[in-house]
Parts: sequence; C-alpha cells; structure tokens
Amino acid sequence: MEQFIVSARKYRPQNFSTVVGQQHITTTLKNAIRNQQLAHAFLFCGPRGVGKTTCARILAKTINCEHPTPDGEACNTCQSCVSFNEGSSLNIHELDAASNNSVDDIRSLVEQVRFAPQAGKYKVYIVDEVHMLSTSAFNAFLKTLEEPPPYAIFILATTEKHKILPTILSRCQIFDFKRITTQDTVDHLAEICQKEEIKAELPALQVIAQKSEGCMRDSLSILDKIVSFTNGELTYKNTLEHLNILDADYYFKLMDCMLNQDLSGALLLYEDINRKGFEGDLVLNGFAEFIRNLLLSKDEKVASLVEVVESFRKRYLEISASCSTGYLVSALNILAEAEINFKSARNKRLHVELALIKLCYLQQALSVVADTDKKKQTDLRPLNFRVIQPVRVADTAPANPVQEKPQIPVQAPPVQPVPKTASGPKLIIEDQLITEKKTTAGKLGSLQKLRQQVSSTTQSSKERSVIFITSELLQAAWQEFIEQLKMNRNPAAQSFEMAELRVVNDEQFTVVTPNNLQQKFIDGERIALTEYLQQRFHNRRLSYQVVVEQREDLSIKIEAPLNSRERFQQLAEQFPLIKDLKDRLKLELDY
Ligand SMILES: [Zn+2]
Repeated sequence: MEQFIVSARKYRPQNFSTVVGQQHITTTLKNAIRNQQLAHAFLFCGPRGVGKTTCARILAKTINCEHPTPDGEACNTCQSCVSFNEGSSLNIHELDAASNNSVDDIRSLVEQVRFAPQAGKYKVYIVDEVHMLSTSAFNAFLKTLEEPPPYAIFILATTEKHKILPTILSRCQIFDFKRITTQDTVDHLAEICQKEEIKAELPALQVIAQKSEGCMRDSLSILDKIVSFTNGELTYKNTLEHLNILDADYYFKLMDCMLNQDLSGALLLYEDINRKGFEGDLVLNGFAEFIRNLLLSKDEKVASLVEVVESFRKRYLEISASCSTGYLVSALNILAEAEINFKSARNKRLHVELALIKLCYLQQALSVVADTDKKKQTDLRPLNFRVIQPVRVADTAPANPVQEKPQIPVQAPPVQPVPKTASGPKLIIEDQLITEKKTTAGKLGSLQKLRQQVSSTTQSSKERSVIFITSELLQAAWQEFIEQLKMNRNPAAQSFEMAELRVVNDEQFTVVTPNNLQQKFIDGERIALTEYLQQRFHNRRLSYQVVVEQREDLSIKIEAPLNSRERFQQLAEQFPLIKDLKDRLKLELDY
C-alpha cells in the first residue's frame, strides 16, 4: 500500500514561484539572491501556516544550489538541491525555539556555527517560534547574530513579532508575511484536487478556505480529512457537515422570518437546527456573521469584504437592500449581547429563542421609535404590522385599531397621551373598589384604605402633567442622577460630569461628549437614565441622544498620552479602592 502523505507536506512548494500569496516576499528574496545582496539574518513574521518555514527552506536550498536558474530559483536537480529535498542536507539546521528555549540550546547552536560547511556555500539556521526564547537565550544569541561568519545565515520565524527584543529586530532584515486570501486558498486547493483527481464542488472549497482563515496548512489538513471521509467527492453539503458549519441557507430563512415577523416560523427553524446538533452559541455567532455580511453588502465599496460562497453573493445583496441599516445594527447588538450571555444562561435553548423573539419584533420596535419622532406621519408608514394582542388588553382604545390611529393627530395636537392610556386601568380600579365596598364592607377597612391611597396616588401620578424640559431643570436632574451614580460607585459618573447638555425641544435633548469612550459610558446607563428622566419629567416621550463632539481644549488633553503617575491618578479617582490598596500595602509606583 502506498504510504499516505498529507497534502500540506506533499504539496509544500519547492521553489519561490509556487509559494502561494506571498509574492511581495518571494520577489524580494529572489532579487537579493540574484544580486548577491543577501542579509545574514532574516526575521519572518506572520500568522501561522502562511509559508514562513517553507520560504526559509526554499531560501536555504536556493542559495546552496549549484546551478541556480537565471531568475534566482533553485534547479531542484543538482546534488545539493536533491539532498535538501530529501531532507538529508547538512547545511540546514532547524531549531524549534518553542521546545529548545534555554541558554544551553542556543549555546550549542552557536558552537555549531563556528564550523564552515563541508559542501555548499552556506549553512542556514532556521529558528522557529523565536519569540519563545528566554531573555538570557536571546542575549546569548545577540553576538553571533550581529557578526556571524560569512557562510552562516540565520532565519528567525515568529508569529508574534511584538515579543521580539528590539536588539534582535534591529539586527535582522524583517519580512512580514500576509494572511493568504480566500481566493488564493481556493485556487490552490482546486489545483491540488485536480492533481489528486478529487471531485470537488467550488462552494465546498470556498467553505474550506473561509474556515481556515488564511492559514494554508489548516485548509490542506481540512481537505485531507474530508477527502478521506468522503472517498474523494467533496460536495458543498458534506463539507458543511464535516466542518460543523450551518448552511447559510438557514440564515437566509431565519432572516426571512425576522423580516416578516414570523415568530413561529423562526422558532420552528431553530428547532430544526437544534435537532441537527448545532449548539446555540454557534447559531448566534453564525447569524451575527450573516448579518454583518448583510450590513457590508449595503455599501458597494465594502461589499468586496464579504467573504461568502459565491453562489450566495447575489442573495446577500438582495436581502440587504430590503432592510435598513438601523435594523441590521440593532440586530447585531442583540446577537452580540446574547452571545456574551450565552455561557451564563441556564436554559441555553430559551436564551437563544429569546434572542430570536427579540429579532422578530425588532423591526416593529424600531418603527415605534421612529413613529414617536414623526408622529404625524403615522399613516404613511410603509410596513403594515400585525397587531400583537396582549399589548392591546390594557388599552381602552376601540377594538379596531385602524380607526383610532388617524385620531391621534386630530384630537390632541401637542399630544399628551398619558391621561388617555391611563383612563383604562383607572376605571378598572374604581370598579374593583366599588365591588369591594359592597362585599367586604367593614372587615377589610384598612386594606381598603390602602387601596384607595394606592389608587389615588397612581391616578395622580398618571394624571400629573408633563413637565417640559428647560436647561435648568435638566441640569438639576442630571446632577441628581450623577449623585446616584456616585453613590453606587459607578465609574460612569465621571463621564456624566464631563458631558454637556443641549436642549433640543420640550422633550428632547442632546448629550455632547468629548470622545467615544465617554459616549460609551453614558450609553451604558441608557436604560436607567431614560427611566429616571421620564419619571422625573412625567413624560414617557422624553428622549435624548448622545453625540461625540471634540472640544478643542479637551481633545488636546485627551490626545496626550498619560504617564504612569497620571494614569494611576486617573485610576484612583475612578476607583478609590485602588488608592486605598496602594496605601495599605505601602506600594510604590514603578515609573
Ligand atoms: Zn540545484
């Protein structure tokens, strides 16, 4: 039986021109070899599986080749090349710094460097994962790296360039490897499939390429795995199955349900997905990715960023055209939140379903918000929503909602809907009171009194007229809210203090913050703040928006980087406990 060699090894490129997706590096290296301007130390950085070690090996082979081709490639036929290809060359030394990271390992490497090569021109030392070397090992290496013998070449490879000491960086010629694009990966996989006589559908290869996220080695091992499972016939369907990816078709269907407010459809679909064995978080994540793609598809300029199976691209464009950006962004928000809280949810299934329910009624919620903004245009609403029954129960509005809607603008021009909606519950309470009086006359006297009190307060609170916003009132309310935050030791208090308030009209105002961070803090309290202000001004329609406006005096202050003392002070102001900790433990700042 023929020995099986994994594709990643079998199809490891043998010369520069076959390296996938790193032309900027291979061209430079070839030119350097041709012009004999080779540096003695290289640093190859980049994500894993994009060809760093491969390029290092090709470089080693090429500079030792006895008959290099005119354009700077190895001949792959001379003795040196053959020994390189067989892995028996003595001129290449590979050290895996992940497992050999001590000073002694480096010392023994440096020892070897002293001996000139017996055959060939260069000895090449490849140090993989060089960021794993200990600091002392790095230091032991420095001298050799700076002044190596003329026949020695060092190639350091790392996935984490930021962990390399500057002293090493400055001694190396640095090459940054790029992530391999999906298209390049697909092309390469297709080529291999052709050579291996594997039948593969293009969408299947696209899915593999996307799943491997720019790592060629991953994509090849996925290919190997699926090929061995499927006897060399890759279809879109069996690829999805093996990669545990949910077919994008499901997301399209889900989206359809969301747009049509078809809750039962969405839940049934989720049931179907669930039965197939897909975890809830996977669905949330996949759906978020799907909506992100829709969002990107809205703009032609960024539509190219959407990495989807080609045959779906048109559908993405179609659906994205039919929903608003606001809807998509809010949906993404809901999904992100659901995904974060997924782990702590007890009933995972319910948790996901809840997110789906929210998404189903999101469009309606958004249009209600839009409605209150332009209340007079209610009739022009483009979407005809289903009426949700439970909401109407408390409402005394006539059974036919269509009749009522046009009445709002006619009846009350500066609209104060509060007493209107309140009339229902009030009546009921009174009714109850009357019946109660009849039946339990004296027995429950105190309870009755209590009820009366409650009902009178609820009445009065509901009938209290709306207070219109003025700058002074708003400032006062704002300050009180800040005090509340401070009492709760909420770090957002500082952001609130820095914000500037601008009254827009009787029930709207704008919060101006100097930067995004402050905005985030203030937005984080949105629910509490809205609740607080609406109660205080007796106005359910009160709303505000938070905008970022860079004030010149502030922006300068913010842009200047803080030194460690200032940073500590800032922290201490925000979290007084830190200062306490420092004082109690008698800690000193390390400047
Ligand atoms: Zn050769």
